[in-house]
Amino acid sequence: MTELHSLGLQELRTGLDNREFSSSELVQALLTRAKSVSKLNCFIDILEDSAKKSASVADQTLGKDHGKPLLGIPIALKDNILSVGSRTTCASRILHNFQSPYDATVTKKLNDSGAIVFGKTNMDEFAMGSSSEASTCGPVCNPWDTSKVPGGSSGGSAAATAASIVPGALGTDTGGSVRQPASLCGIYGIKPTYGRVSRQGVVAFASSLDQVGCFARSAGDLAVLTSALCGHDPLDSTSVPRSDNSFEVPAGANIKGLRIGVPREYFIEGVEPEVESAVRKAIKSLEDQGAQVVDISLPNTHHAVNVYYVIAPAEASSNLARFDGIRYGHRASDCKDLKELYYKSRSEGFGEEVKRRILVGSFVLSTGYYDAYYLRAQKVRTLIAQDFKAAFESQCDLVACPVAPTTAFGIGEKVDDPVSMYLNDVFTIPVNLAGLPGMSVPCGLDSKNLPIGLQLIGKPWDESTLFRVAGAYEHATDWHTKRAPDSSYVDATGSAKDSRRS
Ligand code: GLN
Repeated sequence: MTELHSLGLQELRTGLDNREFSSSELVQALLTRAKSVSKLNCFIDILEDSAKKSASVADQTLGKDHGKPLLGIPIALKDNILSVGSRTTCASRILHNFQSPYDATVTKKLNDSGAIVFGKTNMDEFAMGSSSEASTCGPVCNPWDTSKVPGGSSGGSAAATAASIVPGALGTDTGGSVRQPASLCGIYGIKPTYGRVSRQGVVAFASSLDQVGCFARSAGDLAVLTSALCGHDPLDSTSVPRSDNSFEVPAGANIKGLRIGVPREYFIEGVEPEVESAVRKAIKSLEDQGAQVVDISLPNTHHAVNVYYVIAPAEASSNLARFDGIRYGHRASDCKDLKELYYKSRSEGFGEEVKRRILVGSFVLSTGYYDAYYLRAQKVRTLIAQDFKAAFESQCDLVACPVAPTTAFGIGEKVDDPVSMYLNDVFTIPVNLAGLPGMSVPCGLDSKNLPIGLQLIGKPWDESTLFRVAGAYEHATDWHTKRAPDSSYVDATGSAKDSRRS
């Protein structure tokens, strides 16, 4: 019999509704799985007691006409998303003991859909990073090769989904933090259009870029989870009322005549040849199904990383001002005055990368530099958004390109070189700057058996086309069925080899 942990969201729905197994059995199976793969270090907290309780409540309703798409199904949350009954630490010392005071809107929506919050996943501190190494809880490992990073910053959510601990998980994406780890872990990940999903109750990093997204192991599963999250929320002023918040992967998805733009600026030096060749093959497979491939140019792409590393730190420095030891966060002891309290609390509480961003952000916003950096970056941001707009207006219906220039790199390999870490996001950052929907779709393995992702970028609010194309691609290829071999990361004794530092 197939083991419960390996079933996807939709298979679990069927199995639970047919009473083939109970939600309590499912939760137990996933807890056992989580223990046997604990060396991946995906979780900051596993919410064993509350997950078991919610499962037994769900079991009362299963079999009845419940109408809840996720009833009895465990989902993991990145640890920057509030969920009552859990800590929300953002993998930072400054919030090590912060109890969620209320549910984020996405948590509430998951609960309303019947989902069970399984645990809070490990991440880069305050979502700043591309490798999930910058965490007070230690690095997350990639299930395909535990000496490699899973990507970041939502690396715990990606690795937990890829390693079949949970069928799906939530992350946040400010510059690529859902799509890049999805790519490096060989699963699906989506960042919806800016404004599609509420950020109320999600710890803010860079508010003009942040968006909640999710991970799953098939396009159909991803559509179910995405649909559960979307919808207008008056508590987030950037949230937009829409009537098209439900997504699916149509059976026999037809992509005939669809114009797919392939931007030449996304196939540049620094892209690994194996990544380029897998992505080009994937595009060819879409062409074989009747899509029309169009060569396009997004000429301002090369400014994106520079622009992002002005705007994101600027907004972060402002958002993180609240963690001062008084309003929020760790408070240093034995301080002689208020200034020292701020100074010591923040020095002790924040990690190195977060401090670097706060310093850069404060600098680019300071008097005399604001116009030269922040204002200028905003102008170039508009140019980047206009590149996409022009392409979508006259040349193509969506864009296809790599998610990241390389496959998973080694743990420790880039920690001392922030710029090379930042360059990981060259192809994902423009999508956040333009507010567009983007999806990562598994499309190959390199010669080291590490996953490669195809990025699909849509017009604003056109997630439906991304799901349609992902469905058509999934139908034609079998990359989505590839899993990291259990032997590379499962502890055979099943015992909890816990590598976490707390
Ligand atoms: N890697 C990027 C950064 O460090 C993006 C992070 C994210 O999307 N949260 O800022």
